[in-house]
Amino acid sequence: MAEQKRDYYEVLGVDKNADDATLKKAYRNLAKKYHPDMHPGDKEAEAKFKEASEAYAVLSDADKRRQYDQFGHAAFEGGAGGGAGGFDFSGMDFSDIFGDIFGDFFGGGRSRGGNGPMRGQNVRTSVRISFEEAAFGCERELELPLKDPCPSCGGSGAKKGTTKTTCAKCGGKGRVMMTQQSFFGMVQNVTTCPDCQGTGQIIKEKCPDCKGTGYVSSKKKIQVSIPAGIDNGQSVRIREKGEPGVNGGPRGDLLVEVIVTDHKEFTRNGVDIYSQKMISFPQAVLGGEIIIDTLDGQVSYEVKAGTASGTRIRLRGKGIPSLRNKSMRGDHYVTLVVDVPTNLNKDAKDALKQYDILAGNSLSQSGDAATGKKKKRSFMDKLKDEF
Ligand SMILES: [Zn+2]
Ligand SMILES: [Zn+2]
Repeated sequence: MAEQKRDYYEVLGVDKNADDATLKKAYRNLAKKYHPDMHPGDKEAEAKFKEASEAYAVLSDADKRRQYDQFGHAAFEGGAGGGAGGFDFSGMDFSDIFGDIFGDFFGGGRSRGGNGPMRGQNVRTSVRISFEEAAFGCERELELPLKDPCPSCGGSGAKKGTTKTTCAKCGGKGRVMMTQQSFFGMVQNVTTCPDCQGTGQIIKEKCPDCKGTGYVSSKKKIQVSIPAGIDNGQSVRIREKGEPGVNGGPRGDLLVEVIVTDHKEFTRNGVDIYSQKMISFPQAVLGGEIIIDTLDGQVSYEVKAGTASGTRIRLRGKGIPSLRNKSMRGDHYVTLVVDVPTNLNKDAKDALKQYDILAGNSLSQSGDAATGKKKKRSFMDKLKDEF
């Protein structure tokens, strides 16, 4: 195995000058990807995990990194590189690294163990609302299964009349130190106690009502106030409606994600609304009153004479209320698009041709298309002129 080892920087996929934060991030990503807990029995993932762990163990330690930069892998092989006797992984406490690296993603819930009060897990759900409901807020009643401490055992999980006992394996700490022979020597690792699954306590006789979990689940009606101005993907937090806490800790929260249905006319960007309004050619030319749909219903608007297609107008304060202060509202922008008719009757067409003659004869410029006043000259006619 000695000389097939990959370069540590290459293993982590980082530059030689990578700083600590970059190393940590790179290792974290690899460790997440290859962690044996996620790939039980996968030898290749395990090897990759160890390779990355070793690389990180060395590069995250300033002294070891210096030795490695100078001597390469030889620095840690017996006898070489300064005669220090090589790098002994057995002395490394991987729990430090793992505590640091995995603290926030393996750490949640009960896996940390111990008997201290812990906050319950958050529960997530979602609710679909309309564009208008998001703009002005709404109330919803959700029916969700919520866990509560089991009334038969008071949440202990132990059968009535019996009690939990402190786990003998971990002494109630919920965690045990495991020494393992691994690819790179003896490694000490702190893991969740296998006997008590990290709770620190053993239930000899399980409560039959909750099967020892200490919790029972039942459907609960929960009132959710969705505030005006909420946008698609945002969540409403309802305090202490998540899972019950452990050992007297507070309940987690319920997070209700809002999914806003698309509106048939309006689109939204922050607090502003965008829409289109078709106007006729006479309205664009002569101006006139039009009716525009807004969140507050229909409003009338005076189109100015000579409005070009694509002109955007602003209806101030007709947008979405601000989530922070619902008395403040965004604007509604309306793009006026001149409608080109495709199904005019003959009279209307004739009138339009008449209009064109009066307005500068644009139709005749392209030849005989409409009025036929000007005879189109053929290529041969032009050729005759030349000779
Ligand atoms: Zn119970
Ligand atoms: Zn235990």
